[in-house]
Amino acid sequence: MQIKDLRIHSIAMADPPLRSSYGLHQPYALRNIVEIESVDGITGIAETYGGENPRAALEKLREQILGADALRLLGDLQPLVHGEGGGSERSQVNLVPGENPLDTSARTYAAIETACLDLVGKSVGKPVCDLIGGRVREKVSFSAYLFYKHAGGGGEGEDARKDEYGECLTPESMVRQTQQMVQQYGFKSIKLKAGVLDPDQEIETIRQLRQEFGSDFPLRIDPNSAWKLETSLEVGRALKEELSNGGYLEDPCAGLDNLATLRQQLLSEGIDTPNASNVAITSFAHLPENVRKDAVQVILCDHHYWSGMRQVQHLGKICQVFDMGLSMHSNSHLGVSLMAMSHVAAATPHLTYDCDTHYPWQSAEDEIVEGGRIPIVDGFVEVTDKPGLGVTLDHDQLARGRERYEKCPYRKRDDTAEMRKYVDPNWERILPRW
Ligand code: MG
Repeated sequence: MQIKDLRIHSIAMADPPLRSSYGLHQPYALRNIVEIESVDGITGIAETYGGENPRAALEKLREQILGADALRLLGDLQPLVHGEGGGSERSQVNLVPGENPLDTSARTYAAIETACLDLVGKSVGKPVCDLIGGRVREKVSFSAYLFYKHAGGGGEGEDARKDEYGECLTPESMVRQTQQMVQQYGFKSIKLKAGVLDPDQEIETIRQLRQEFGSDFPLRIDPNSAWKLETSLEVGRALKEELSNGGYLEDPCAGLDNLATLRQQLLSEGIDTPNASNVAITSFAHLPENVRKDAVQVILCDHHYWSGMRQVQHLGKICQVFDMGLSMHSNSHLGVSLMAMSHVAAATPHLTYDCDTHYPWQSAEDEIVEGGRIPIVDGFVEVTDKPGLGVTLDHDQLARGRERYEKCPYRKRDDTAEMRKYVDPNWERILPRW
């Protein structure tokens, strides 16, 4: 499976004005689509972080990729797996996902691994999940991912999109948003992106969601480190009942020490709500300290920056050994990423929670896989017997994505700039805010 060509397509897709503690989503989210073609004319694909920096990191490896064997290449590129650094500076407290220079190598490796695995799968006629150890589930369950948002459906000018969900800046409108998303996709668990409104309002939102959906729907709240330790304790106490039954506090406050203290204090009060994280813990280097301190009980994996699918499987095993849960993180993405996430999830036995996905926030107009959007039915994505990731590129749609990228001014994700532009010219990301 000698590689004869590497093609990287920088694309943009409409993204609604979603809020988080990082600020506001820009009207377009960026992705890079990787194609790796073998001398047999078979092409493997991957989707990764967008804009200039991820593209440049991939371009740097062009010489090494061309002429290499798809599987030998992954062995040769192993040094990339470890990334540029460990320790707390590798966290995502201060940088949006995809913009941390310390995990550039890990992200780059993941994109190449995914494309190579897809290439191998398509060459031998086998699905990726079965190549990486075999599926332990036929379909993968995802969670509804709710955001406070301003009015608007994303895109700009003539490309402005329909606002499917409307403005949502109150508990009541969040209940409506959730009803709409759950009805459309059949999700059976709910994650609220928080750190946007006053904590009292966010507590009230979770309470109303619990009232509406009942205790069979696990509830998660993720303020991306916007709260102080004291505030996290208050929220943990206030939502003791609502976050039980499979819920968690996701990155309520920053740092493993704070998270460990939060856990100890809540436990001493009889509150067993676990801490989850994709901010304090972003790499293997964070795990020893975490195990020592029992700071985070549920790790959110993401093959896009945890150095690919097989490293996520290793992470799953470590979590199992140390009695930690494993969930999955998501960024704005299209169908190639959704299928890659589903394949790794299908082949990771110790995945103990429904995965996150932003997929409902993207529209059919932007989808780049042949046949259009991947169905999410009853909250599940099916991994079929189709070879590789089970999807191929729609090159007309890909060309439209490239055109959108060329036209739009964005070259990296910057939620602070967008917040200043549309909401508050003096906005600063204050951590902790409450
Ligand atoms: Mg998170």
